[in-house]
Amino acid sequence: MSIPWNKTRVRVDLSRIRANYRLLAGSGSGVVPVVKADAYGHGLLPVAKALAEEGADTFAVGTVEEAVALASQGPAARILALLGPIDAEDYDAAVRHKIIPFVGNLDQIERLAQAAQRQGCIAEACLKFDTGMSRLGFSDADLPALLERLARLPSIRPVWACSHLATADDDADASFALAQGACFGRILEQLRAAGCRLVGCLANSAAILAHKTLHFDAQRAGIALYGANPFHGTTLAHLGEGLAPAMDVCAPVVEVRELAPGQGVSYGRTFIAERPLRVAIVAVGYADAYSRGLSNKGAMLLGGRRAKVLGRVCMQLTAVDASQAPDCKPGDRAHLLGGPGPQAIRPEELAAWWGTIPYEVFCLLGLNERQYV
Ligand SMILES: *Cc1c(COP(=O)(O)O)cnc(C)c1O
Repeated sequence: MSIPWNKTRVRVDLSRIRANYRLLAGSGSGVVPVVKADAYGHGLLPVAKALAEEGADTFAVGTVEEAVALASQGPAARILALLGPIDAEDYDAAVRHKIIPFVGNLDQIERLAQAAQRQGCIAEACLKFDTGMSRLGFSDADLPALLERLARLPSIRPVWACSHLATADDDADASFALAQGACFGRILEQLRAAGCRLVGCLANSAAILAHKTLHFDAQRAGIALYGANPFHGTTLAHLGEGLAPAMDVCAPVVEVRELAPGQGVSYGRTFIAERPLRVAIVAVGYADAYSRGLSNKGAMLLGGRRAKVLGRVCMQLTAVDASQAPDCKPGDRAHLLGGPGPQAIRPEELAAWWGTIPYEVFCLLGLNERQYV
């Protein structure tokens, strides 16, 4: 399921994901690893297995299909499907595999109850509430109709209630996150007053680290598990200091050559050497999910030193400045992410050059063939 036939390799250090989990579990009270999108590109099954060994007994994935893959091939665990049922098949599959899907509208509730009836069992569900993201979920105003519908559908049992924070990683202003927390707290109270016994879950990584008052009964940890600091570069950066990135990505140098002054490199000649310059040509490009947006912006790690991207990133090749790595030769490995030593490329740095966030860097580079250490 990876990008075929290329030379880019992803190394995932599962011991770091385990250590990040222990760190988060020390802050939270019921940390649920979020392993959606193939564990943010780190590999659903290996990550879930490693975290189950650390004691995680509940996981959150995106689609019901991911949940079925985890239920049938992964460790024994409770599985939440954050996206909820989408296609008709998802309802029956969720019930059959005892997955707890998010449900955020009455149609989903009705169809899940029907699937449970067809199979002669009770479907557990997670009620999804919108407290500020304006994406999916019931609002607090929907509560009376929701409770009335649930009372008529004994084949569906809500066992979790969740909402999602829009601004938990904003270090300057916590007011919106706290308002979402207050709204969610009121929703939980009303559900419990109506007799529902539910696990309440609101916090994401940033809120686990920064907002104890938003922890409720369980928390969902994604990006921090994979070692990116949600507060990198902000006044709260110290909160995520102990997190260690688990993904390393490298590709081979295929050519080393000298540029004479005035010589350009790559399409469009957007980089012209001003003085004699050693360049290394690395076998990676945008076909390997190394974005063309890194043209003249990014850097790799070559021989433990930074090597800037020169000119445009091509489909399967990228030129870098090898002046700091005089011994570099074809066959050497250039690191696009991570790498040995103090100059290792942080996910937040690569994301900034790329014009995105570590989440996207992990999901995209993680499409390459993975190895585990
Ligand atoms: C992805 C996701 C999370 C995890 O968020 P992080 O910022 O990666 O910790 C939590 N909840 C929901 C609903 C999500 O989609």
